[in-house]
Amino acid sequence: METSSGILAQTDFSKAEHHDVVIIGTGPAGLTAALYTARANLNPVVFQGPQPGGQLVTTTEVENFPGFPDGILGPDLMQHFEAQAQRFGADLRYGMVTHVDFSRRPFKLLVDEEAPIIAQTVIISTGASARYLGLENEKRLLGYGVSACATCDGAFFRNQEVAIVGGGDTAIEEALFLTRFATTVHLIHRRDELRASKIMQERALSHPKIKFHWNTVVEDVLGGKQVEALQLRNLLRDETHTLPVSGFFVAIGHEPNTKIFKGWLEMDEAGYIKTMPDSAYTNVKGIFACGDAQDHVYRQAITAAGTGCMAAIDAERFLAEHGIIEDLRTETEYHAAPALDSSTQEVVEGSKQTT
Ligand code: NAP
Repeated sequence: METSSGILAQTDFSKAEHHDVVIIGTGPAGLTAALYTARANLNPVVFQGPQPGGQLVTTTEVENFPGFPDGILGPDLMQHFEAQAQRFGADLRYGMVTHVDFSRRPFKLLVDEEAPIIAQTVIISTGASARYLGLENEKRLLGYGVSACATCDGAFFRNQEVAIVGGGDTAIEEALFLTRFATTVHLIHRRDELRASKIMQERALSHPKIKFHWNTVVEDVLGGKQVEALQLRNLLRDETHTLPVSGFFVAIGHEPNTKIFKGWLEMDEAGYIKTMPDSAYTNVKGIFACGDAQDHVYRQAITAAGTGCMAAIDAERFLAEHGIIEDLRTETEYHAAPALDSSTQEVVEGSKQTT
């Protein structure tokens, strides 16, 4: 949490830009919030962060996003999201929100440690990032054979042996993807049972190029300037051995990108922002959270988009309730059917008519 003696206190906010809605992050959650708030004429400003488009830009085929019966590439899907939000005037900007002061509304934000912004409401959609094992050599060789994104880096390992650690859907999906390039994909999992969905498991277990190393952990990543091998330990036999590979992919889950909000917002132990039931409200009124920054259960593009929509509608209602905008303009207001009297089935006087 920023202290009064910190960079925010030294920043001159008298020249800050003022906005009703600032959205932080441009994955499916942030861009859906941008679409809805833009359509409500709230002129949202959206800071894209370090990975514009979010995690889906690092994936290939997305087969489970409704509306695309033949599947769609992750980067293409996110381009559609972006174009749709921009069509209604969302102001997408490069830049990272580095500091926030949520002590009172309007809220203070700093972009890239220098540009001051004042916001009546903030929608947090900062998503989550890949988790690493925490080995010293894993860090040293990151980008030199170690990667957390098979879809980004898999093609570098054509006709080579690679390994991937993890037993969830990500690990299986990425192992299958790696079979397009590698001669053998070693899947290393600490248990003897996968966490991944049954359909993904079946595909991987029957794939001739995927070799499973059960009850096994990675103790070290070996190599001078490039990955050359892994040191593995079989937990049942308590034995170590060396597995020569030139690529090592880490697929052991994600951590929410919520560090800059620590101290301001209530979070669980893992750092996921807590939201009030059936809403995107956080414990600070005027700050809303959506997507993987607050969801550790579903973590799907479609659920992220859904919560982004919730955050946008909540933010708009909040602005109206506090007299910052004159009236509600949400999709629900536009399209709400008029209320019917349950006994007569006639339109209740004064209830909204669909236009
Ligand atoms: P996940 O489901 O949390 O799985 C993480 C895996 O990494 C688990 O198998 C876990 O082992 C292992 N792991 C965690 N920490 C480890 C450590 N320190 N050392 C060794 N292994 C470790 O994460 P995910 O696979 O990234 O999936 C996240 C969510 O996205 C899930 O809900 C998943 O269904 C979803 N997803 C869906 C799709 C799809 O539908 N196409 C694709 C990708 C992800 P244990 O099993 O022993 O805990």
